[in-house]
Amino acid sequence: MGRHPPGTFARCAGTPAATRLPRVEVVVVAETLEGERRVAAVPETVGKLVNAGLKVAVQAGAGRYAFLPDEAYVDKGARILDDRVSLLGSRGVLIKVQPPTLEEVELLPEGSALICMLAPSSFPDIIRALAKRNITSFALELVPRTTRAQSMDVLSSQALVGGYRAALSAARLLPKFFPMFMTAAGTVRPARVFVLGAGVAGLQAIATAHRLGAVVDAYDVRAAAAEEVRSLGAKFLVLELETQEGTGGYARAQSEDFIAKQRQLLTEHLAQVDAVITTAAVPGRRAPILVTAEMVKVMRPGSVIVDLAADSGGNCELTEAGREILVDGVTVYGMSQAPSELPMHASELFARNVANLLLIMIKDGEFAPDFADDILVGCCVTRDGDVVHPAAREALGLEARA
Ligand code: NAD
Repeated sequence: MGRHPPGTFARCAGTPAATRLPRVEVVVVAETLEGERRVAAVPETVGKLVNAGLKVAVQAGAGRYAFLPDEAYVDKGARILDDRVSLLGSRGVLIKVQPPTLEEVELLPEGSALICMLAPSSFPDIIRALAKRNITSFALELVPRTTRAQSMDVLSSQALVGGYRAALSAARLLPKFFPMFMTAAGTVRPARVFVLGAGVAGLQAIATAHRLGAVVDAYDVRAAAAEEVRSLGAKFLVLELETQEGTGGYARAQSEDFIAKQRQLLTEHLAQVDAVITTAAVPGRRAPILVTAEMVKVMRPGSVIVDLAADSGGNCELTEAGREILVDGVTVYGMSQAPSELPMHASELFARNVANLLLIMIKDGEFAPDFADDILVGCCVTRDGDVVHPAAREALGLEARA
């Protein structure tokens, strides 16, 4: 195979579907979205990438909100650069947490690569711009949830952080103890916490609230969640409703009739609890509204709703993302960018997911993604100047590919 100029893509003989980027440099920039405190690489993962034969350049201060000083990155072999514009303009693999802005995409050299969360349905213009500039892009949230890809699954690692923080937020906002106390002044009853949606975040919220001493109930539309809820010491609320199991272990989208009946059955339960933590989601859709304004009225004064689905519209009708509001004595907290509330561990887990994904694309120190790999098929959004991911094509109104 002939040599290619450093930093250019070329077809790899023998593996026609692969794209190569020799002597690649991985570029890490600081996040600019307000409230985003994570960073896509931590010193530990920089060390892994350097050991795999890659060069790593990090923007000065990129890890500041996660309390990761530049020197820690240098110690692991990274070079630190102040100039964000020239970093974005250097040909290699850019790794980020949040999607780039349109202006940033314009700075990326044609033929380079990008790994970050991309939310194609929310940012169609960015996806179009990436395709136009022939950027090979991978959306972290689209990594298939298979056993082999578990170590690359940012949805799980960040949901873990979110669920934990949601339980702590409920404990902070509730004007009561979570645990039971038997004191000389009498017995204090434990708080009753109700978790709606028992996926990764919900299960972590259950575990955390339970550890803090609350009595926890939970509900999910997937029947499979019941056993997991019980194994954490919580009670699974059985509603007289059919289960809503979709594909891949996710919930399927529910009809308005189903949601209406569910709300009716849930109302009775809401009147008995102190804190509600909502985490219900259906992939690619607005979060279902499970708690209406009317339902909040039946809750006891002083009780709390922590809505972890706030950024995707909220599970409570009253939720305002990023705000704590008090309505008729009930505090409703719309948790926004929950993983950023724990930036050190959230970054550590996120960065490991990113490094694990990137490393399956590295062969002999070169960036050479194998597009026959189901993980890469699942999360590659743009390549060869085109939008290749079926869901992204649909979001952009492009015809499905044969
Ligand atoms: P999610 O964030 O999409 O949804 C959160 C939860 O909300 C889900 O459990 C869902 O069933 C529930 N929900 C949706 N609508 C609801 C409603 N109307 N009422 C009550 N609950 C509702 O889900 P997630 O946490 O990302 O994961 C969902 C599933 O995927 C879980 O079974 C999890 O174990 C599985 N998973 C598998 C892997 C893997 O195999 N690698 C990795 C991660 C997650």
